[in-house]
Amino acid sequence: MVGAGISGVACARVLAEAGLPVTVVDRGRRIGGRMASRQLMERPVDTGAQYFTVTDDRFARVVADLEAAGITRPWTDTFTVLSSGAAPTPKQGPVRWGAPAGMRSVVEALASGLEVREGAVEAVTADAEGLRVDGTPASAVVLAMPDGQAARLLGEGLSSLAADLTREWEPVLALTAWWPTRVWDLDGAFVNGDATLAWIADDGSRRGDGAPVLVAHSTPAFAAPHVPEPQAALPAMLAALQRMLGISSPPSGTHLQRWSMARPTGSRDEPFLLTPAGLGVCGDGWGPVSKVEGAFLSGTALGGALVTRLEAEAQHRRDARIRDDLLRAQAADQGEEHAFVRQLGFEELLED
Ligand SMILES: Cc1cc2nc3c(=O)[nH]c(=O)nc-3n(C[C@H](O)[C@H](O)[C@H](O)COP(=O)(O)OP(=O)(O)OC[C@H]3O[C@@H](n4cnc5c(N)ncnc54)[C@H](O)[C@@H]3O)c2cc1C
Repeated sequence: MVGAGISGVACARVLAEAGLPVTVVDRGRRIGGRMASRQLMERPVDTGAQYFTVTDDRFARVVADLEAAGITRPWTDTFTVLSSGAAPTPKQGPVRWGAPAGMRSVVEALASGLEVREGAVEAVTADAEGLRVDGTPASAVVLAMPDGQAARLLGEGLSSLAADLTREWEPVLALTAWWPTRVWDLDGAFVNGDATLAWIADDGSRRGDGAPVLVAHSTPAFAAPHVPEPQAALPAMLAALQRMLGISSPPSGTHLQRWSMARPTGSRDEPFLLTPAGLGVCGDGWGPVSKVEGAFLSGTALGGALVTRLEAEAQHRRDARIRDDLLRAQAADQGEEHAFVRQLGFEELLED
């Protein structure tokens, strides 16, 4: 499993639960991918995925277990809508879930019991003997990541697959800013019609500790020209945040994070890719919903398909071994029988 975001971990869990040996490799110092939490002012702040929603029963069961373990918590079902020239309005929707120890802790909890290694995979190749990850043979390989990152790993024997991995991802910049006390009153806000900001979250209300910390996300259009030098975007994002929430005092501190591949654009209904050779690709770029839940379901679906495939292959190998053993035993029996007949001097019985 290459990639320990939620899709790779979900996929690996299905394989491990079926008793298949699986190794997860991720290039990050910590796992979680875009469900990222950064330690700022001695507490984790969610700079990537802001919350998740739950619609599918399988995901609901996993989230219920995580909630019982204190890893997730329902945050809110009501956000504010901020539009320029109009009064803020509340907007009710599905329950949004947060994680008291940060979004990363959700992926870490799901990965518990899996073998996870830190390392950047450079190439997956295929030859007559099968698939290899940086030269090491594997019965199956999953790339659980955005198309662009997966396509870069396709080496000898697999490069033609790049034609199936052309979905585009858009960038987002995430500004975190904190103040000595809370001088705003909202959980989260969708920002409409602003060129700079698209979303604002109160990280203290989301995580339940009340810390006066805000996270603001840029629009993809604002982020795009700033991807090479994201820090240059900080003053404009901070000014937009203060203007929208009417905060006149300067923050005690700020942090800016760049996501060059934040969210996929367009749509793709297939839940995952799986080639006859056993190379799989999954993640939020697959299936109808490009979000945390969609990534979980894509990984889970690919895991199920791989279990069926690998178990059928193992059964086929067992059947072939049994057939070979039987043929060998038959040949041995026949050899003994012929020797006995010869001993008795009845060789003409063997002519047929
Ligand atoms: C700013 C932002 C805001 C978001 N807000 C929300 C939200 O509010 N709600 C929601 O539901 N979703 C949100 N999302 C989307 C959500 O985070 C993703 O849908 C989900 O986390 C994708 O998981 P994944 O496993 O598909 O990919 P990722 O999390 O990207 O995981 C891919 C993993 O592959 C690893 N990797 C890549 N290349 C290699 C390599 N060569 N070798 C080893 N490892 C490699 C990476 O390190 C990474 O850990 C947001 C995303 C961003 C960036």
